[in-house]
Amino acid sequence: MSEMIFLLLIFGLPAAVGFKLARARNKNPFIWGLLSGVFPFFLVVLHFNKPTHEIKGHFRECGNCHGIIPWKDTVCKYCATAVSNAEII
Ligand SMILES: [Zn+2]
Repeated sequence: MSEMIFLLLIFGLPAAVGFKLARARNKNPFIWGLLSGVFPFFLVVLHFNKPTHEIKGHFRECGNCHGIIPWKDTVCKYCATAVSNAEII
């Protein structure tokens, strides 16, 4: 029984993280979740694979330099411009 929990942690945890990261980047969460579960290396790929456009609730586009920054950030990390919070619901 403990082996099952161990296996679940080894494969399930990266798969769950991959699923979440892929969904935030508008990628197929099932394919990326599966890939991450088998090869956790894909988590690193996903993490650094920023989207190329705004994804509501996850990433926003800076109005000044058009860099993609995390949704919760209020200051653009590329050009230090304050980003509008008006869209955050
Ligand atoms: Zn910017």
